Amino acid sequence: MTRVYALANQKGGVGKTTTAVNVSAYLAAAGWRVLVVDTDPQANATTSLGVTVDSGAGSLYDVLIGGVPLASVIVASKRPRLDLAPSAPALAGAEVEMVGLRGREHLLQRALTPVLSRYDFIFLDCPPSLNLLTVNALTAARSGVIIPVQCEYLALEGLSRLLETIRLVQARLNPSLRIAGLVMTMYDARTNLSQQVVDEVRRHFPGQVFNTIIPRNVRLSEAPSYGETILSYAPYSAGAAAYQALAEEILKRN
Ligand code: ATP
Ligand code: MG
Repeated sequence: MTRVYALANQKGGVGKTTTAVNVSAYLAAAGWRVLVVDTDPQANATTSLGVTVDSGAGSLYDVLIGGVPLASVIVASKRPRLDLAPSAPALAGAEVEMVGLRGREHLLQRALTPVLSRYDFIFLDCPPSLNLLTVNALTAARSGVIIPVQCEYLALEGLSRLLETIRLVQARLNPSLRIAGLVMTMYDARTNLSQQVVDEVRRHFPGQVFNTIIPRNVRLSEAPSYGETILSYAPYSAGAAAYQALAEEILKRN
């Protein structure tokens, strides 16, 4: 059965997109059929996969607001078995337009249904917000939510609001929603702070933090500007090894 995960945290810049794109790349390389759905108007997952945000082409906006089939906007990435449902800046307006629609929290879930059988894994990259786009992703995330947490001061701040949103979505919209795991990102081995944050998050979420810790690695931040995943840009980097390990961990869990 297709596994569908949302990558969510309303805190910006914690590694949601980097995790979605690179875990997807490793799963695709291992032979799985993978779809990344970019639900963020910033379209970072779209550009990270080397797809240009062209206003003429179809995007998730047309799917959620125009009722266009998701299959018609899906594009292939440069990597075999790795597809993308692109975002576009227009998606920023979708939030407001969706408010008036019936079943507005289920739009993405409904759009995904016809393509589920084509993929083994679907990753929904969320915007840094708990808005209706994120609620749509959480509603569609039948395998759970992956929460990237940056190894920095006040890492836990704001997580209670995310957890509350997850609880509400689980109660009202998606009973199968669970926390698939928290991923510690941008770990800096040179500081004590990073390890303290990891320890603190593990104390708060026993058994729910992935063993794999993503180090701060400049290669990971360079790859998107070339439209490459870490697997093609710097396969022997520490960041690549970490995302390969995380992909394996996600594969084994469940
Ligand atoms: P947003 O909330 O804006 O969507 P995000 O949570 O998706 O952000 P990313 O875009 O993945 O976060 O990462 C934020 C920035 O940090 C990006 O420039 C990215 O390239 C960089 N980055 C992410 N992970 C790492 C890492 N492990 N090491 C170094 N840089 C990283
Ligand atoms: Mg992002």
